[in-house]
Amino acid sequence: MIKKKAILRFDPATVEKPITYYLIKQYDLWINILQAKFEPALGGKLVIELGGDQKQLDEAFAYLEEQNIKVDFLEQGVSWNKVKCNNCGACVSVCPVGALKMDKQTYHLEFNYQDCVVCGYCADACPVKAIEIIF
Ligand code: SF4
Ligand code: SF4
Repeated sequence: MIKKKAILRFDPATVEKPITYYLIKQYDLWINILQAKFEPALGGKLVIELGGDQKQLDEAFAYLEEQNIKVDFLEQGVSWNKVKCNNCGACVSVCPVGALKMDKQTYHLEFNYQDCVVCGYCADACPVKAIEIIF
């Protein structure tokens, strides 16, 4: 199975479309929703991981384009700049999956990239912008 992480952006005209239902029903994709923020009057953002074979994914992304849903692929996920990081720990408490931890011996931040679901909360919480979401 090929997996792709992407951000789907919805405008007010598309925000109420049942996109994940169609992606599963029509394209038989495996779906993992990483983050969802919707305001009907303004639009919405869905951070999603899709799994399937290349044909399924190509067809699904063509479908999203037809529906005027903007897709940005998350090829790398999260970038952590160790030099900028001052090990304040502000990002640790906001991480929903425990990918960020303080080493109890050194009081330095440890980042387990495998567990990260690219929600972006740590990037928002970091006072020195040491963490960025990379597209
Ligand atoms: S983006 Fe940051 S807060 Fe979100 S899962 Fe990854 S490390 Fe944790
Ligand atoms: S919030 Fe920023 S500076 Fe503080 S530990 Fe996390 S990455 Fe480092």
